[in-house]
Amino acid sequence: MEASVQAEKGQLSIHTDNIFPIIKKFLYSDHEIFLRELVSNAVDATQKLKKLASFGEFSDELGELKVTVKVDETAKTITISDRGIGMTADEIKKYINQIAFSGAAEFVEKYKEKEDTRGNIIGNFGLGFYSSFMVAKEVEIITKSYKEGSEAARWVCDGSTEFTIEAADKTDRGTDIILHIAEDSEEFLQKYRLSDILEKYGKFLPVEIEFDEKIINNPNPIWTKQPSELKDEDYLAFYKELHPMSEDPLFWIHLNVDYPFNLTGVLYFPKLKNDFSAKREKIQLYSRQVFITDEVKDVVPDFLTLLHGIIDSPDIPLNVSRSYLQSDSNVKKISGYITRKVADKLADIFRNDRESYEKKFDDIGLFVKYGMISDDKFSEKAKEYCLVKNIEGKHFTFDEYTAKIKENQTDKDEKVVWLYASDVQKQDAYIQSAQKRGYDVLVFDSVIDPHFINGIEYKLEKTSIKRVDADTLDKLIEKEIKLESVLSKDDEEKTKKLFEETLGGAPKLTISVEPMPTDELPIVITIPEFIRRMNDMAATSGQKSMFGDMPTMLNVAINANHPVTQKILKAGEDEQKQLIRHAYNLALLAQGMLSGSELTAFVQQAAARL
Ligand code: ADP
Ligand code: MG
Repeated sequence: MEASVQAEKGQLSIHTDNIFPIIKKFLYSDHEIFLRELVSNAVDATQKLKKLASFGEFSDELGELKVTVKVDETAKTITISDRGIGMTADEIKKYINQIAFSGAAEFVEKYKEKEDTRGNIIGNFGLGFYSSFMVAKEVEIITKSYKEGSEAARWVCDGSTEFTIEAADKTDRGTDIILHIAEDSEEFLQKYRLSDILEKYGKFLPVEIEFDEKIINNPNPIWTKQPSELKDEDYLAFYKELHPMSEDPLFWIHLNVDYPFNLTGVLYFPKLKNDFSAKREKIQLYSRQVFITDEVKDVVPDFLTLLHGIIDSPDIPLNVSRSYLQSDSNVKKISGYITRKVADKLADIFRNDRESYEKKFDDIGLFVKYGMISDDKFSEKAKEYCLVKNIEGKHFTFDEYTAKIKENQTDKDEKVVWLYASDVQKQDAYIQSAQKRGYDVLVFDSVIDPHFINGIEYKLEKTSIKRVDADTLDKLIEKEIKLESVLSKDDEEKTKKLFEETLGGAPKLTISVEPMPTDELPIVITIPEFIRRMNDMAATSGQKSMFGDMPTMLNVAINANHPVTQKILKAGEDEQKQLIRHAYNLALLAQGMLSGSELTAFVQQAAARL
């Protein structure tokens, strides 16, 4: 038999006098978490009772074990009731007066000086029971322990450091927490507000939660089950539950470890297409089925935030600031584990079902490429199955591709040259020239490709990656055998001079004369690879190009073997100028660089010659 409850008035052992106002101010924007804390305490108490029953340490009727949240708008109270283990008066003194409050006091001591960390700690700590004082001017606990013969007790505290405890007449087991809501927190007396909060934090709590006569949660979400119990339909249905408006995901990963840390969850690969700005914040972090946050950027590498789903781990510390989180060793291990799992899953699909992997690559390519340029460990694995696609729509791994083109596309430094187009339509003239020479051309047209090319080029050995219009093809893939020029050295020099005189001025042109096949354009305009890359990268990261709208450095290669070049040499001065301008404009047109009034003038001139 427990001793009967002695009525008592006491002083909480807190050394900071005005602890409540401080806490209130700290947590201003996040008062709603009081409900998360109190409901999880009720869930914990219920789970503990179930455990005791399973160990045979509790043999009474368990009865219905749901947790109930009630609001009384007239009395201005919110009551959270459970049928869990309850507390004896001694336990209240120990767990509420001493432990819960000392935790709170410690917290305040630690953070009251650090103005700048306030923003960071909001919502990321567990003050537990104490957080009820953020919204209540008085809190009552009426509780009866599961222990045989124990007497019910009532504890009341008005937010000062004083409390009272006395016997209560509660007859059934469990705990009621009654919050007398403060004037400035009356918003929480509105049903829809409470229901929103419960929905946000409690959707997957492991014990049934009743509010407004409805059960608001799914106590057995799929991530708590074994993968072997689940079918594809279950995963898809759960995805719909999380993201009702989204298209079906491509595939998913069931996370399940218990050593050296505890982690469960399901991550889905959404159809990303080319949408890099896809809404992030679609991974939700849970701790034992309690929602914590959907800002997971400190827990998983950035590229993984493109995924959707749930991560549940009691091992991620939530009561510390973000900067601490990043250096936490558990967080690092978890992040490494998830990265590995994701990389392995992709490898798995690649090896077992290459066809479907290739089909999905348009949607996951962005993810794989982003992962490769941002995470070395991922890159190590993904380089086996990251694919490139050529103009004909065939996919290759890096190794396969290099093997395919090595024979034909190796330059004099023994580097394999990957040629690519970023816009198949616009670069058609260049693609055709490359194909005429038997060269293969890749397509790199996604938003991430400029960064991706830069990122992988130095990881690939003895490979250089160049856009088809980065230079004349014979220079892009320099070979021993060169075409003969029909022009004498003198004539070449003369041609170059003529062009320089006629075209001089901005943009800055680098003019050269080269022998090319006669059936190609008389002039080929190219943009040096490094300049264009810098422009592309600046454009995708939203900065203004350092060269303005158009690159200011152009290479102009004059085809020494083209009949027009000879015609120019032989023409009179006026005709020379006209021919040069015309040929130059044609080349600009082929590069898609002729527009506006220049284009109009060019078309009019051409029409006049008809
Ligand atoms: P924590 O949940 O992290 O232990 P809290 O401040 O939330 O910290 O709660 C302090 C303690 O009070 C709990 O550990 C538990 O022993 C006790 N407690 C709180 N709420 C309940 C409840 N509804 N039923 C039984 N015990 C409770
Ligand atoms: Mg708690």
